[in-house]
Amino acid sequence: MIPEKRVLVTGGAGFIGSHLCSRLLDQGHEVLCVDNYFTGRRQNVAHLLSNPGFELLRHDVTFPLYVEVDEIYNLACPASPVHYQNDPVQTTKTSVHGAINMLGLAKRCRAKVFQASTSEVYGDPSIHPQPEEYWGNVNPIGIRACYDEGKRCAETLFFDYHRQHGLRIKVARIFNTYGPNMHPNDGRVVSNFIVQALRGEDLTVYGDGTQTRAFCYVDDMVEGFLRLMASDDTVTGPVNLGNPGEFTMVELAEAVIRLCKSPSRITYRPLPSDDPKQRQPDITKAKELLDWQPTVPLEEGLARTIAYFKQRLGLNS
Ligand code: NAD
Ligand code: UDP
Repeated sequence: MIPEKRVLVTGGAGFIGSHLCSRLLDQGHEVLCVDNYFTGRRQNVAHLLSNPGFELLRHDVTFPLYVEVDEIYNLACPASPVHYQNDPVQTTKTSVHGAINMLGLAKRCRAKVFQASTSEVYGDPSIHPQPEEYWGNVNPIGIRACYDEGKRCAETLFFDYHRQHGLRIKVARIFNTYGPNMHPNDGRVVSNFIVQALRGEDLTVYGDGTQTRAFCYVDDMVEGFLRLMASDDTVTGPVNLGNPGEFTMVELAEAVIRLCKSPSRITYRPLPSDDPKQRQPDITKAKELLDWQPTVPLEEGLARTIAYFKQRLGLNS
């Protein structure tokens, strides 16, 4: 039995955070979920509110937080390009000031601290698949920079707090993740395609749809988070977490149409600027250090996500 800990999850009312809160409570920990509801929703954690081990706090991580905790998972940050580009200054502040505040909290509490970093630190990669040693190819002044550079600066802060103050840090580079509790208006590709297919609307493929992504089901991702947090203190990361299965956006659209048994067709829209052409994680480190690899194939994960959206959109009858 794992001893009970007081665990802070920032961004806990978001898509991945809500699953993480559930798993931590299942393991017997006390969970303090902090969120400003920018992209997250109270409904994502409504089923946890009656659990005496769960506490929900509306708070913006760009401001200091004074609580007593043993572990911190720092997930607060909008993750969808549509939302993080909506208020880019706030996005950078959330990553940078949020990291400073959570690292300061971890230092005072002597807590272990996990950072939800991203494959976006690799930008539009020139090395494929991407290993952790690759330094990336990021446009520092483009429309994705508020997110990419914010996350890169957060990684810098994590490693400087580790070297300078001896903090126990855990940095995960998360690749595209999908599953239940994504918002129908999230704007990311999996939720967009499923919602469009279920509504019988055309699926909006940006560009020619040959760009690739590798999609990880949320349960696998959360398992990776827990293993990284539980790993030996010498394991700081960064560690790539993602599913190496690589698909083009046209392949994804066709799979979603088939699984939804939808009459929808594909329609093509302009490619947003700086959209990475290829992305696939090299997960050798995660396998070796955490004995972790994804277990849910894309079709199965999509089927579960489609079932969630059908219910969410009231299309079950
Ligand atoms: P999400 O948008 O559903 O969740 C982010 C949560 O953070 C939301 O609940 C939002 O309200 C909250 N938040 C945003 N700004 C905040 C602030 N200033 N203070 C407090 N809360 C704030 O996104 P997600 O997919 O669940 O992503 C969770 C984390 O994982 C993010 O840090 C994201 O960058 C990272 N990540 C996700 C993916 C993915 O594919 N889902 C990929 C790479 C990295
Ligand atoms: N995309 C698309 N149609 C959509 C939404 C996204 O073709 O309706 C493409 C987008 O241009 C990108 C890929 O899907 O190439 C993944 O986009 P997403 O916003 O999910 O995440 P990203 O990996 O780009 O951060």
